[in-house]
Amino acid sequence: MASKIDWNQIKEWDKKYLIHANIRGDEYGTVFVDHTEGDYLITPEGRRLLDFCNQLVCVNAGQNVPEIQNAIKDALDRFGFVWDIYTTDYKAELAKMLIEDILGDSGWASKVRFCLGGSDAVETAMHIARLYTRKPLIASRMYGYHGVSAGAVQATRIRESRGIGVDSNERVDPVPGRNYSGTFVCPVPFCFRCPLGQKYPNCKTTNNKGQLARVKMTEEIICNHGVENVAAIITEPALGAGIIVPPDDYLPQIEDMKNRLGILWIVDEVLMGFGRMGEWFGYQAMSDRPVKPDIITTAKGITSSALPLGAVIVNKDIGDYMDSIRWMHVSTFSGHPLPLAAAIANLKYLIAHDAPGQSKKAGEYFRAGLQKMYEKHPSIGLFAGKGMFWEVELVKNRETNEPFFEADRNVSGGEDVSKWPNSIISAKAMEKDVIIKGVAPNSLRIAASCFVTKEDMDKFFDAFDYALSYLEKVKL
Ligand code: PLP
Repeated sequence: MASKIDWNQIKEWDKKYLIHANIRGDEYGTVFVDHTEGDYLITPEGRRLLDFCNQLVCVNAGQNVPEIQNAIKDALDRFGFVWDIYTTDYKAELAKMLIEDILGDSGWASKVRFCLGGSDAVETAMHIARLYTRKPLIASRMYGYHGVSAGAVQATRIRESRGIGVDSNERVDPVPGRNYSGTFVCPVPFCFRCPLGQKYPNCKTTNNKGQLARVKMTEEIICNHGVENVAAIITEPALGAGIIVPPDDYLPQIEDMKNRLGILWIVDEVLMGFGRMGEWFGYQAMSDRPVKPDIITTAKGITSSALPLGAVIVNKDIGDYMDSIRWMHVSTFSGHPLPLAAAIANLKYLIAHDAPGQSKKAGEYFRAGLQKMYEKHPSIGLFAGKGMFWEVELVKNRETNEPFFEADRNVSGGEDVSKWPNSIISAKAMEKDVIIKGVAPNSLRIAASCFVTKEDMDKFFDAFDYALSYLEKVKL
């Protein structure tokens, strides 16, 4: 497709008028994207960049799926805009699909509320949890990521992702007036480098309930705040931005704990939902026995990101409560017909093409590929994941798991990020037209669509091999 766009003009406007994410003005640099296809971004020069970040881990069906695009076009022919007190066929059908077709066998899901995206879904879930329990506090976890809005960012515990500003002297500008008092932080099962000095699974035997040390500590912290003050604990299934894959007995132990304490469990499925992990939801894939959350939040994969949408799904008791009150709470765009139409078409596509099964199959091939990389490259300290979400830890020394950057997940983001090992991997992989990225310096977050081909996975491994070989040659 020949581009008629004047990209020099675009660059000028982009540099001059936009407040950019994650870079300072003096660092200006970007990748121009002319269009997208499958697992690829295509630049104005026609470079085909294989996207092993899946953008923000959110294009589950792949880019430009005709069924989704056509459903949006049909909805556009029928609707301008309708707000949330009116009912369109799209809104009712999507709610039915989520509760019956996707979660019908789960035995817990009862009702859904649509919203604007992932942060808004978290905001809504925390709001509902507080309203239902009439308790103020939400327990979140170190390195959890839950979004950018005022409530969701309270639960976000990655330092560099809390909306701070960092200048070229690494001076950190905090956000005055931001109130973090609604949440408190609990430990996360980062078994690879356990600050409690434990080694999984031995940490279970050191306390009498067979609890993992991190769960035991979580319980103690919640009890320290007083269960009468704690509405819920919010967890991701695996940590999507913190990039940590917990052991399969962790979530079941969180379920046991929340039942024992009588608090709610919100599972934030914004990044892992809709087939990515080899099951419909991450909590199903990441548990060694069936578990039942009380609330789940979703976004991203619900439309494969063709349009913005979020959804919060609640259990029967909460659903009954929400039915028993007038909830004076609505947002202009929460019932917009276009994203709802996109979501229906997306879910039909994911169901018809067995997204969870495809993702699981791709994940097995990917695991074997990562195993080969691990055997060849001593800079890989750990790889872990499921389906089409993978964590890779980059280490200076595999014997000790010593990271390249000591601060690891507590960096501010103001450091010279070009020296971070994940930036080096990104830069080298781009030479082979493959996009690989991380968040904190020592780890990589690898993801593709649920339908990624073996050929594209092989292309990824060729670039990854090349980039790792370079990382192992340069002295950091
Ligand atoms: N929750 C999780 C687990 C996420 O990964 C994200 C975004 O990456 C969010 C919430 C926030 O979603 P959004 O960026 O759509 O506001």
